[in-house]
Amino acid sequence: MNDSPNDSTAGSLAGTFAERLIAWQAEHGRHDLPWQNTRDAYRIWLSEIMLQQTQVATVIPYYARFLERFPDVAALASAAQDDVMALWSGLGYYSRARNLHRCAQVVVAEHGGRFPADPEALASLPGIGRSTAAAIAAFAYDAHAAILDGNVKRVLARVFGIEGFPGAPKIERDMWTLAESLLPQRDLPAYTQGMMDLGATLCGRGKPRCGECPFDSDCIAHATGRERTLPTSRPKKAQPERYVDVLVIYAGERVLFERRPDSGIWGGLWSLPELTPPTDARDADDTSLRARLSAHAATLGAGEGRVRSLEPLHGLTHVFTHFRLHLRPWRVMLESASPSNGARHAWLDAAGVAAAGLPSPIRKIADALSIGSLSDGQLSLPT
Ligand code: SF4
Repeated sequence: MNDSPNDSTAGSLAGTFAERLIAWQAEHGRHDLPWQNTRDAYRIWLSEIMLQQTQVATVIPYYARFLERFPDVAALASAAQDDVMALWSGLGYYSRARNLHRCAQVVVAEHGGRFPADPEALASLPGIGRSTAAAIAAFAYDAHAAILDGNVKRVLARVFGIEGFPGAPKIERDMWTLAESLLPQRDLPAYTQGMMDLGATLCGRGKPRCGECPFDSDCIAHATGRERTLPTSRPKKAQPERYVDVLVIYAGERVLFERRPDSGIWGGLWSLPELTPPTDARDADDTSLRARLSAHAATLGAGEGRVRSLEPLHGLTHVFTHFRLHLRPWRVMLESASPSNGARHAWLDAAGVAAAGLPSPIRKIADALSIGSLSDGQLSLPT
C-alpha cells in the first residue's frame, strides 16, 4: 500500500502524526463552529449528518433553525415528518432528513433518548455510517475510533503516498487500518477535529497549501510532486461503443430525412435514416451489408427508389456521456423518388436542411456533404 521511497520515514511519520496534528489543530484549526465546544451527542450528530455532502457555510443556518425548532432528540422524534422535511428543504440529499427523523425515533424508543457511546451501536442507527459514528463517539464520548471520510482519505493518500482509488474495497480497508493505527491514546476530539480541519482547509481538493502544513517536510505526495494526482481518481469505465449506418439518400438535389421518435436520443429531431437493427459488419465491402442498405434505401424511396449507386463516406464519432456513437454515412443515389414518404419522412432541399432541427453530428454530415447543392466532386467528412 505504501509507496514511500523510504519506509523508515513513513514509520517515524506515523509515530508523530497524531501529536503534530493535534498541535496544529490547537493553533490553526477551527474552534468556533456552532457545533463545537459541546459534548451533546444530539447536536454533534445533527451537525455530522448535515455536513455530509454539504459545505459548512450552507449548514450553519440550517443547524440553527433545526436546534431552535427541535432542541433535543425527543422533540425531533415526535415531530411530523412533513415538518422535518420542510425544515430540511434546500439542503438536498433528502434521504438524510428521512433517516435523521427515523434515527431520532429509534434513539428515543430503544436507547432511552440517549445516543449510545459505542461506535458500533451508533453505526447501526439509521443514516449513520462507520465514519460518522466514529466522529460522534469521539466528540461526545472521547471514543477511540477513527474517521475516514473523503477529506481524511485525501489527507492519508497524500501524506502516506497511497496509490489506488480510495473507494476501492482493498484500498479502503487498508486506509481504515492505517487510520486506526494513527489514533492517539488521548485528545480524541482534538485529533478528530484536526483530521477534518486539515482536509477541509490546507489539504483541499484543488491546490493544497503545503507551505502551511504540519506535514510538509515528510508528506510523500508533496515530496514527490504528486499533490495533484493523489488520491487516485475513480477509474474511468470503458465507454460502450455503438455503430450505426446512416443513409444519405439523394433524389436529385434533395435528401431524405427521418423524424426520430420523441423518446430516446435526439427525440423529435430530424435525422438521416438508420439501418435497423444495426449491423456487426464493419467492412464496407461486406456484400450482405450492402444488400441490406440498398433494400432499406429502396423501401424508403417509396417504391420508386431503385438504387443507382451506394457509396460509403468517411465516418465520424460522437461522444455522449455514456457511450460513443460511430456514424458511418452512405451516399445513396436513387433513380427517382416520391415527393414525400409519410409524416415521419421528408425530402429536404438546402433551405429545408438549413431550417430543420438536426442533431449536431447529423448537421456535420449535412454540412460536409453540402446537402442541397450536390456536386459530383469528391466529398469527405471530418473524422
Ligand atoms: S504537505 Fe500538502 S499535500 Fe501533504 S498533507 Fe500537507 S497540504 Fe496535503
